[in-house]
Amino acid sequence: MDPRTCARIHLDSLRFNYREIQKKIAPARLIPVVKADAYGHGAIAVSRCLVDEGADLLAVAQFQEAAALRDSGINVPIIIFGRLLPDELPDAVRAGFRITVFGVEDLRWIERATGGGQKAYVHVNVETGMGRVGVQLDREPDFFDQLSRSRCCAWEGLYSHFATADEADKTYAMGQLDRFNALLKRLRILGQMPPMVHMANSGAILDMPQSYFDACRSGIMLYGHYPSTETSRSVPLKQVMTLNTVVAHLRRLPAGHNVSYGRRWKTDRETTIAVLPIGYADGIRRHLTGRLQTLIGGRCYPVVGTITMDQMMVDVGDAPVAVGDDVLIWGDSENGSIQVLAVAEAMGSIPYEMTCGISSRVRRVVV
Ligand code: PLP
Repeated sequence: MDPRTCARIHLDSLRFNYREIQKKIAPARLIPVVKADAYGHGAIAVSRCLVDEGADLLAVAQFQEAAALRDSGINVPIIIFGRLLPDELPDAVRAGFRITVFGVEDLRWIERATGGGQKAYVHVNVETGMGRVGVQLDREPDFFDQLSRSRCCAWEGLYSHFATADEADKTYAMGQLDRFNALLKRLRILGQMPPMVHMANSGAILDMPQSYFDACRSGIMLYGHYPSTETSRSVPLKQVMTLNTVVAHLRRLPAGHNVSYGRRWKTDRETTIAVLPIGYADGIRRHLTGRLQTLIGGRCYPVVGTITMDQMMVDVGDAPVAVGDDVLIWGDSENGSIQVLAVAEAMGSIPYEMTCGISSRVRRVVV
């Protein structure tokens, strides 16, 4: 871990985003999604802050993520989105985690895990068009009958997940919503409704208020990013992570000199190259070669030459840049800002991958 490189996690911005999203979706509840170490921001610090803000239900992907939050003293209920295997279920039930159910097989596993003792709180994920996980009601038409007969399950929630809510064209997402609404109508007639229905993710929170139901699950917006360039900006956000490093080394190179592996970039004049102690092992993807800008002293400089494992190079020309100067890779600073979404776009990716990709070698400092 190089102490010069640092991801600062701004909890005041996280609080701001939480409040703005909550304001937008009220009276629906906000379920903060803190999986994947809170999208790379540090799940424990983020979760403590959000619980302090009023979050009373969190969401993760895996049993281990939920267990780590519980071990750190976070006591609010936690939904686990991913499928739990039989050997994880007894501990998950004991901890009171909200278990996602994807079909009749899960009900059988839960029955075995509880042994008729403590009930398992379950949220049912139904397939409406994501094509990943979720109960396939065409294949298991009696799923809800079986669930209602189960004496091991306390049915708390019903949800589904959008595949394209972050796209400008909402036709497919509206189709998913229609299928979900049709199911709700059927369940209401049968008197088989759980206390809590949720569907919207960040894209839907921004642009599909008809999908709010009782609660919305948001991840990327909490961290201060719009999910794509195609959504509206109907909630103001502040970037939570600032990623900084420093100038480690300066070298003057003549015109025509190559820089870094593969000799893919050459100086077109005599210039100064600043070497930064950050590379793809820290999460600055090599694919960003030729696509990344940095801010040093409020001025923009391009990263040049191939990004390497531990270092990358910036062409600073004749500017008065010194060893030890602060370098902004992304985030907001007094001297300017670089949007994670813009970096992601430059790489043909999404902001989620950018912040999740910052490796454990980078120090997180909560401010
Ligand atoms: N709900 C589920 C089931 C998810 O898997 C995710 C994240 O991928 C979310 C909600 C949050 O999505 P977003 O970060 O776009 O708000």
